[in-house]
Amino acid sequence: MAAELIDAARKQQEKVQGKSMRCKKSHGEARMAYVSQVVDLEFVQDFVRMCDGGWQQGWHERNGGNASYRLAEEDIAAVKACLGVGGHAIGFAASDESSGLEAVAGEWIALEVCEPFLAHEWLLITATGSYMQNVVRLPEQCLGLIELNEQGDAYRVVWGFEGGGRPTSEVSSHVMIHSVKSRATEGASRVLYHCHPTVVNALCLALPHDAREWTRTLWKTMTECMVVFPEGIGMVSCHVPGSLDLARETAVAMEGHNAAIWAHHGLCVTGGTCDEAFGLAHVVVKAAQIYESACAMCAGPSFRQQISDEDLLRIAQTFGLTPNPKYL
Ligand SMILES: [Zn+2]
Repeated sequence: MAAELIDAARKQQEKVQGKSMRCKKSHGEARMAYVSQVVDLEFVQDFVRMCDGGWQQGWHERNGGNASYRLAEEDIAAVKACLGVGGHAIGFAASDESSGLEAVAGEWIALEVCEPFLAHEWLLITATGSYMQNVVRLPEQCLGLIELNEQGDAYRVVWGFEGGGRPTSEVSSHVMIHSVKSRATEGASRVLYHCHPTVVNALCLALPHDAREWTRTLWKTMTECMVVFPEGIGMVSCHVPGSLDLARETAVAMEGHNAAIWAHHGLCVTGGTCDEAFGLAHVVVKAAQIYESACAMCAGPSFRQQISDEDLLRIAQTFGLTPNPKYL
């Protein structure tokens, strides 16, 4: 479905621009040959679907939100095959077969962080200033692939960001959080997704900025919450968007959580797959909506009844989960 949408969008774009995309870049046909294939890779399509899902939920006003996916080895191999580097050349001109990554990669650009644990890792990441609503229509502009260097303190673009774009201003946060989560999960965590759900920011006005308070409030709205996030929700205080302070505090919060609230800003989640990360965001937002609705019905948080601590423990035990002892 995503591929069809992307294909339809690309044809429409060509029509509107009144010229063939094959002539758009100096790389000419060879560039177009790999662009279409990178977009069609399954991990890229999953990512596009996640971005579009957030837009459809109303979590991404203007250019709000960003996301990244840390590629698996097989993903990198597939991209190299599409790019015609590293000994592969699917659909690529014969004269380009021998060219290395240097032939397609940009200059090295310094990061504000140093994460050698992520040496040579690749991230698929949203572009700065891009609108989530446009990702499905213009993936080559709104997304890009970056490779980190040996020291984990610089990156270079290997695909995407067409039209002169660059990674989200939160790129240093993404690198730092991926490093923390990769270590904490023995490499299982790959997706970082950040969005601005209305109800989350409304609750930032109403609830104290305290991880225990948020976790218990959400756990007690519906039984699914304990099953989906038994480790609870982290809380990050109000910081300048894109700042290193925000990155550092989030990295600490994410060591023990897969979701964190950015006070007066939004929600940040991680997961092994796009479905897992997006699903977690969806559950957090739904729980917050239930709490908001119940407050409206009861003229405040004085509910007739709610899930007890004993109920929460029973749910966790039944599913073989260990609730975070800080919160229960
Ligand atoms: Zn944001």
